[in-house]
Amino acid sequence: MGKAHNLGFPRIGAHREMKRAVEAYWAGESSLEELEATGRDLRARHWRRQAEAGLDYVPVGDFSWYDHMLEMSALLGAVPERFGQVSGNVDLDTFFRMARGRSADGVETTPCEMTKWFDTNYHYLVPELHADMAFEISSERLFSETREALDQGYNPKPVLVGPLTWLWLGKVKGGDFDKLTLLDRLLPAYERILDRLAGQGAEWVQLDEPVLVLDLPEAWRAAYTRAYNRLTGRGPRVMVAAYFGGLGDNVDLVPSAPVDALHVDGVRGVRELEGVAAALPADAVLSAGVIDGRNIWRTDLEAALERLRPLEQILGNERLWVAPSCSLLHVPVDLAEETGLDEELKGWLAFAAQKLEEVGALKRALNEGRDAIAEALAASSAAVASRRRSARTRSPAVRERVAGLTGDMTRRDSPYAERRPRQRANLDLPELPTTTIGSFPQTAEIRRARRDFKAGRLSEAEYLQAMRDAIAEDVRIQEEIGLDVLVHGEPERSDMVEYFGQRLEGFAFTTGGWVQSYGSRCVRPPVLYGDVARPEPMTVDWSVYAQSLTDRPMKGMLTGPVTLLQWSFVRDDQPRADTARQLALALRDEVADLEAAGLRAIQVDEPALREGLPLRRGEWGDYLDWAVESFRLATSGVSDATQIHTHMCYAEFNDIIEAIAALDADVISVEASRSEMELLEVFREYEYPNEIGPGVYDIHSPRVPTTDEMAELLAKAERVIPRERLWVNPDCGLKTRGWGEVRPALENMVEAARRMREPQ
Ligand code: GLN
Ligand code: ZN
Repeated sequence: MGKAHNLGFPRIGAHREMKRAVEAYWAGESSLEELEATGRDLRARHWRRQAEAGLDYVPVGDFSWYDHMLEMSALLGAVPERFGQVSGNVDLDTFFRMARGRSADGVETTPCEMTKWFDTNYHYLVPELHADMAFEISSERLFSETREALDQGYNPKPVLVGPLTWLWLGKVKGGDFDKLTLLDRLLPAYERILDRLAGQGAEWVQLDEPVLVLDLPEAWRAAYTRAYNRLTGRGPRVMVAAYFGGLGDNVDLVPSAPVDALHVDGVRGVRELEGVAAALPADAVLSAGVIDGRNIWRTDLEAALERLRPLEQILGNERLWVAPSCSLLHVPVDLAEETGLDEELKGWLAFAAQKLEEVGALKRALNEGRDAIAEALAASSAAVASRRRSARTRSPAVRERVAGLTGDMTRRDSPYAERRPRQRANLDLPELPTTTIGSFPQTAEIRRARRDFKAGRLSEAEYLQAMRDAIAEDVRIQEEIGLDVLVHGEPERSDMVEYFGQRLEGFAFTTGGWVQSYGSRCVRPPVLYGDVARPEPMTVDWSVYAQSLTDRPMKGMLTGPVTLLQWSFVRDDQPRADTARQLALALRDEVADLEAAGLRAIQVDEPALREGLPLRRGEWGDYLDWAVESFRLATSGVSDATQIHTHMCYAEFNDIIEAIAALDADVISVEASRSEMELLEVFREYEYPNEIGPGVYDIHSPRVPTTDEMAELLAKAERVIPRERLWVNPDCGLKTRGWGEVRPALENMVEAARRMREPQ
């Protein structure tokens, strides 16, 4: 009989119980016992749910109070010294200190670095690697949870981050060495873990190796063969799980190690399923991840079955298992709990619980024939047809407009060199103009007004007035500080994607569609289900009001097409590039309206441009082409005299500088203070022609930077980029900061710019 399993269940709970429990514990409002009880309860509920869906094994170790990479580091005893001696037991408090930055005696210390997990919006904590580190089982959580599952009568499949992936994602600290040299010390620790799990009676262990979908250096490919020849055949059967893409050239590694099962991403790697099936080691099981674990659409079960049939032919029924493409960590828990969506739209969706039912149904069809799931097949086909037919997903006007796009719509009238004098005349700017990235502190007052309006305690007119008051206050303060290009401060935006999504056709919002972003932080991505159109201007009133309060130029402020796409659940019935183009057209209209309303500078933020890069280098070109084209489509409709700004919140441009230049924004602001302006080197080397505002003020910390240090950074920048093309601004928006720090910091920043302007 073929089997059904799951790679991981969302740990946050349908009602974000995990968040509440862990935050209460951190705040000292609940005990460790209460915390543990909530954890046991969540796990029990999630296992029951999965068993009921017909899964043969339940994942164990997918639960964590913070992050599964950190969990793996704890299990291996890879705890940086600053968090204290762990002597074989990383208890929960130590674990939290690593995530949150406290030493054993409670002093603040640097937390482990956090970064995005492959191409998802989930963040993991980066392992810190030292040449002399040793690995020893140092956490009991995986074993006690395995016992917990066994005690409740389930068949547990413990899940570990595999050794290659754990190492690949680790960061070498202290000294310069090849981290792959740690593998030989790491493998015995994994062996001991597997042995203990075998002793507990675990039949299978899942080792996650998403690195198998990346371009791997030869040494790492060889390491796969070495590692899995060692780890298999000792006790528990070993399933290696690859996901977030196809195996590509790593397919040839498949026969090189005698693993007992290989899981592959049958959504993104659908075309290679049969090839992988044929390459499997003798008797090995193929786990076909044909249910999309990265998106919220309901599966076309007929189509999925069709994909499974040829695999069954090759492998036989016994050796074919069904699963979601990856852990369900990346989708919300349960659609049944959702109250924010209409029935039609809900009918097109599946969250984690529903996806597992789909997995269960496919298994039944394979084992008992399709008639066994006739009802599920009919319902799935009806949903697919409803979505395909629905007028809500297709707007003839939008499609006609996209079809009529012409090349000149992605080009400004004149090249930058000619636009520049026109903009300088239009905006009347000094040398080294000062500005900010857009948002100002979202004060308690602002948040209260938003809450009260949502709850009906504030009328719309009262709410609008509260926002206008906040804008007026922000403008007044900016004038007092003496900034050159002002912003309205974004008080009306709770979130830079949600705000636009709520004003565009084609987006829907859930009430309970939470997914974990990091630690206890959860986000509710919008659902981009249909053609995108802008029924009316989205930001013009706010910007016009802000401009009316000052003679200085006010920047219009928009979120770019790639970022809107990247931070939403996006429709899967057309290429992402097509959706990006629709978003770009809607933004293009907004840009035109802002210009017509008298805004002389307009910023289109693209903080997510870089994270949208495909995992495989070979696919970058295509992505960057449409990403750049979308940005240009959104921004090229303005006259030469209107200045287009963009902003990106990172300091890593080396490999994408060509695309950044191709955006042809008049001004780009980037994060730079923490890298001491080093990132400018690539702009210099590339002879980047337009203007740049390298951040001189690290907004991630509450510390107020001094005039001296910012002047110093500016002087450094000026050695690389000519002063005529330099702007002065913070690293990013200021919405998470308080006025107490923001005001003196910006005063110092303006003073630093003034000092630089004075003849030396
Ligand atoms: N304009 C936005 C702000 O200032 C940009 C945020 C971002 O880059 N993530 O908040
Ligand atoms: Zn930013």
